[in-house]
Amino acid sequence: MPKKPAILIIYTGGTIGMALDPETGNLSPVNFVEISKQLPELIRFGFDIKATSFSPPIDSSEIEPALWIKLAKIIGEQYDNFDGFVILHGTDTMAYSASALSFLIENLGKPVIFTGSQLPIGMLRTDGKENLITSIEIAAAKINNSPVVPEVCIFFQNKLFRGNRTKKYSVDFFNAFRSENYPPLAEAGIKIEYNYNAINYPYGEKKLKLHTRLDNNVAILKVFPGITGKLINSVLNTEDLKAVIIETYGSGNAPTSSWFISEIESAVKRGIIIINVSQCSTGSVDMTKYNTGNKLLEAGVISGHDMTTEAALTKTMFLIANYSDNETICNLINKPLRGEVLMQNLTDKKTYLTDI
Ligand code: ASP
Repeated sequence: MPKKPAILIIYTGGTIGMALDPETGNLSPVNFVEISKQLPELIRFGFDIKATSFSPPIDSSEIEPALWIKLAKIIGEQYDNFDGFVILHGTDTMAYSASALSFLIENLGKPVIFTGSQLPIGMLRTDGKENLITSIEIAAAKINNSPVVPEVCIFFQNKLFRGNRTKKYSVDFFNAFRSENYPPLAEAGIKIEYNYNAINYPYGEKKLKLHTRLDNNVAILKVFPGITGKLINSVLNTEDLKAVIIETYGSGNAPTSSWFISEIESAVKRGIIIINVSQCSTGSVDMTKYNTGNKLLEAGVISGHDMTTEAALTKTMFLIANYSDNETICNLINKPLRGEVLMQNLTDKKTYLTDI
């Protein structure tokens, strides 16, 4: 008899496991025992399913880098004992957490599937049951004895996305996530159809490498019409700041006024790394297209290409914690480490994975 698939569910909190607090009338997380009572279906899998929980479970707005490291360590410690991992997580910051985990876990050879829900699992119309059940199926899926999706992913409603390509797009809809710059890795209907060409498979037998350092001396600066020099100056002069994700207009454009550009230039001269990502959800930064982008390029801003803000932020936290020289960090920022970015002139996905 083949061995039963072994799946570890890591419950961090989020709406999927929330119930109305009778005192406050607000939704707050309950423990995993309460959730599993709602899920007799888990036994029908016939898998070896184990669970571990954050104590206490949290609303994902409370997530922080230390908890991403904790999640990565749980996966590292249990890596050899399970075929796949399902992380139950609030939707609000799921895209940040999935991005962070993708950088913390190098040479991943097993599925790590984030999911959650818009309605708590105890509610009649919950989307949580289907999300969890399909995530478990994906986490256990094998082809020729190897995992079908050895990546950090987000599964929601009927689509599986690469985690570091994903954004939460809807407050209310059951299809709460989108990955505008990368195709879904699978779509679940009557069957689960995998998009094998879009999935990254590890080359050779590389050993899992766990990283446990992130540096949060970073900022996100969103450009808007009317932004003041005072604001930019205070953000860029934040004590200990090492890097800034600047969210610009369209293909990477921002005001060209001298007060704006000189703030950026002097931050770059002080050693602050500035990474340009677009406020648009689809498409890529190209600072050579307009004068308004070119001025940033000349000031020393580097392109984040088609990265999501979530991926750019967590990748930067990862790189500045693990490398000390800015040249290496800048080179790695716009190179794909875990399939999080596609530079414009590289279209063959097999050529764009970088070893570090
Ligand atoms: N506030 C909740 C959370 O992110 C929302 C959700 O889970 O959908 O934890």
